[in-house]
Amino acid sequence: MKFECPHCHEKTFTPVQKALCGSMRGRGKPCPKCGRRCVNGMGNIYFSSLLSVAAFIAILAIYFTASERVYSSILIGGIIAGSLLLNFVVSMFFGKLTEPIRTME
Ligand SMILES: [Zn+2]
Repeated sequence: MKFECPHCHEKTFTPVQKALCGSMRGRGKPCPKCGRRCVNGMGNIYFSSLLSVAAFIAILAIYFTASERVYSSILIGGIIAGSLLLNFVVSMFFGKLTEPIRTME
């Protein structure tokens, strides 16, 4: 299972490589074949912002309701790590690669 490069239209990106491309806010990663940079498209931005809002609300809820300070900081750390991991896994399998907005080369 590989993903198509938006520049040369060859299936050059593995799921892990695709996830490492990051979102449209970043610089992206070069395609192994044509060397031009690719990023994950708009769907990835929507999902990651939705996810960070959900994580933020969960963290606030824990912060204001938890009585055990040590326990709540472990939980908050877990939520942050979990949401980063979830975003990575979703970037691996969902959405399409596209051209970055910022082209620095
Ligand atoms: Zn390419």
